[in-house]
Amino acid sequence: MGDNERLLANEAPAFSRAARVKYYNIVIRSGKGAVVTDVDGNDYIDLLASASSTNTGHAHPHVVKAIQDQAARLIQYTAAYFATENEAKLAPRLAALAPISGPKALAWGNSGSDANDAIIKFARAYTGRPNIVSFTGAYHGSTYGSQTLSAVSLNMSRKIGPMLPGVVKVPFPDPWKRLTDETDDAFVDRMFAAFKLPFETYLPAEETAAILIEPIQGDGGIVKAPQKFMEKIYQFAHDNGILFAVDEVNQGMGRTGKWWSIENFGLEPDLMSVGKSLASGLPLSAVIGRQEIMDSLGAPGHLFTTAGNPVTTAAAMATIDVIEDEHLIDRSANLGQRADKFFHDDREKFPFIGDIRMYGLNGGIDIIDPETGEPDADATTKIIYRVFELGAIIISLKTNVLRFQPPLVITDEQLEKAFTILNQAFKDFAAGKL
Ligand code: PLP
Repeated sequence: MGDNERLLANEAPAFSRAARVKYYNIVIRSGKGAVVTDVDGNDYIDLLASASSTNTGHAHPHVVKAIQDQAARLIQYTAAYFATENEAKLAPRLAALAPISGPKALAWGNSGSDANDAIIKFARAYTGRPNIVSFTGAYHGSTYGSQTLSAVSLNMSRKIGPMLPGVVKVPFPDPWKRLTDETDDAFVDRMFAAFKLPFETYLPAEETAAILIEPIQGDGGIVKAPQKFMEKIYQFAHDNGILFAVDEVNQGMGRTGKWWSIENFGLEPDLMSVGKSLASGLPLSAVIGRQEIMDSLGAPGHLFTTAGNPVTTAAAMATIDVIEDEHLIDRSANLGQRADKFFHDDREKFPFIGDIRMYGLNGGIDIIDPETGEPDADATTKIIYRVFELGAIIISLKTNVLRFQPPLVITDEQLEKAFTILNQAFKDFAAGKL
């Protein structure tokens, strides 16, 4: 019995087990760049970047040093009562990066989930309106507010309701749902009509505080909303005094080849949430918004003892340094093009590869039944398990989407090796070996 098996067998029942990728029986010990190593010494190329939370890779020396130096100086002082050095330096630096013009401010959190809860609070406080609109297929988090905003799985709200009142879901314009022969414009018109339906039937626009959207859905399958749809809902929001809020927790920090996914659309949000890779995976999040919105909620309205902690903010500053110094935004865009080509080339050979959506080094690749074109969950499981056996970690979104989100520091050689592994897994599946 190896250490992987021994540790898993003796592990106290952990709730998180239920959510884990069940067939990867590994216990991760260490990581370096785009590679993680288990307790038995096996290496895997991490094509998941720890759920897009380590865009700068594992144990980046600059980030590690910033954490170590800061931990030796001061681990914690609550930013709720006193500014701390890194937090005071990071706040203007992060705010300057946010694609919001004019005066802006931010509030710290410990997770993407609480940053999205903050969006609800700030939007309600500023507008004095109760309702928030979010989209089907969205994942915004696991606190009651953010979980209420989410609609990626029925299991998310099963048994735990009632959820937060005042949240309304409208259909996300997943281009996959286009009707046969429907033009792009007709699709956008149909989806915009569906978006407006609640406002025309039971949801007064003047009682709606914010629209929250992942411009490119992450857990929903790496799906990009059409440009024209985004422009229409943006205009609708502005015409009706509704705040336009974006969730950048998964798709921000360079993941899409831009700092923020909303920059792919040229639209300016009123509020945005950031987390995951902000501090290279340490628990730090932020909601950033126009100053007047952020000023609308009194101080006790959103405070966490450890949010904006000295160590996490040190890690965030080092993370931003690495993204800038190593040109990771350009790297994400360039490597994304290579990955896009790889998957398209393979689609020529393997008809079970369906739609390919790649935005930066950030892809959703559908695995389908070639006969029917329908999602093939079983094939997906077999392929990702084979990828794992061959030395890379990849998981699925929904049931049949390969989630391709490597650390942006992945080397050319590691990326080529990942392509070789994926290609081999596709071949083995095609040959009926799995
Ligand atoms: N928003 C998006 C788009 C996410 O993908 C996630 C996590 O997967 C969250 C919010 C929640 O972040 P956290 O898990 O840090 O609370």
